[in-house]
Amino acid sequence: MDKRVKIIADVFGKAYPSPKSELVADSPFQMLIATMLAAQCTDKRVNIVTKVFFRDYPSVQLMGTLSVEEVKGYISSINFFNNKAKNIVGICSELLNKFGGVVPETLEELVMLPGIGRKTAHVVMSQCFGKPVMAVDTHVFRVSRRIGLSKGRTPLAVEKELIEVVPTSLVKEFHHYLILHGRYVCKARVPMCDLCKISHLCEFNQNGIGGTKPRAGFMGLGGQELLVILIIVLLLFGAKKLPELARGLGRSISEFRNAQQDVKDEFEAAMRAERKQKSERNDVSGDQNETNTNKK
Ligand code: SF4
Repeated sequence: MDKRVKIIADVFGKAYPSPKSELVADSPFQMLIATMLAAQCTDKRVNIVTKVFFRDYPSVQLMGTLSVEEVKGYISSINFFNNKAKNIVGICSELLNKFGGVVPETLEELVMLPGIGRKTAHVVMSQCFGKPVMAVDTHVFRVSRRIGLSKGRTPLAVEKELIEVVPTSLVKEFHHYLILHGRYVCKARVPMCDLCKISHLCEFNQNGIGGTKPRAGFMGLGGQELLVILIIVLLLFGAKKLPELARGLGRSISEFRNAQQDVKDEFEAAMRAERKQKSERNDVSGDQNETNTNKK
C-alpha cells in the first residue's frame, strides 16, 4: 500500500471513526433521491426536506404517484428544485417501468436514470450495495489534489488515480475521510492547515501556500497581530523595504487565490461537460424512443 495512503487512513481512522454519509435514508431508493437532491446543496438542507418528503412518500411506488408540481411542493427550498422535481418523477417512472421498482446496482443502469451522473451512481453503489467505487465530489477532488494523491484535472481522472492507490477494502472509508476532511478542515476557501493532522504529508502545505485557522481579520489575523507583525517588519527591514514586501505579500495572496480558483474552475468545467454528455445521451435515447413509437 502507498505509504501516504496508509498513514492517512490510520490518522483519519482515528479522527473520523465509523465514517458514513451524512444524508439520512432508509433504503437504496431514498439514498438515490437524497443524493440527487444534494447536488449543489448541503446535506443538512436535504435532510430537512427529505424528513417530511420520505415520511409521506417513502417508496418508489408511493412517490411515483406524484406529479412534478406536487414534488416541487416538497422540495422547493432546495437549489434547482424545478429540474430536480422533474428528475424525481422521471426516476420513479423509469424504476417502475424498467426495473420492477428496484434500484439497479450497476453504474451503466444507474446513469440511465434522469439526473443521475457518475458521482451520484457511485455514492449509491458504495453506500447501498458495498461496491468499492470512488465517488468524486468537490471535496474529494480538492482534498486529494491538495494532498498530492492525485494530479488529475477532471473528476474521472482523479477517481482513476485514487482507485489505483487506495486498497479496495479501504475505498469506502477513504471516500468518507476525504469528504469529512474537506468539509470541516481542508475547506475550499481557507484550509485549516494549522489544525490538519496530515499537514506533514500534504503537498499543498509543503509548497508554502497552505492556509491557516480562519479567524476574523485579514488572512485570518486579528488587528493586534497585524500591528505586531508590522512593527517587527519595520524594525527588521526599515520603512524603505515596505513597498517591496507588500508587493511580495500581494503576489503570494494572489497565487494562493488563483490556485484555489483553478481547482474550482476545473471541477466545475468537468461537471458541466458530464452534464452536457448526459443531456445529449438522454436526447438520443428520447429520439430513439420516439422513432420506436412511430414505427409501432
Ligand atoms: S495541510 Fe492544509 S491543504 Fe493539506 S490537507 Fe491539510 S488542511 Fe488541506
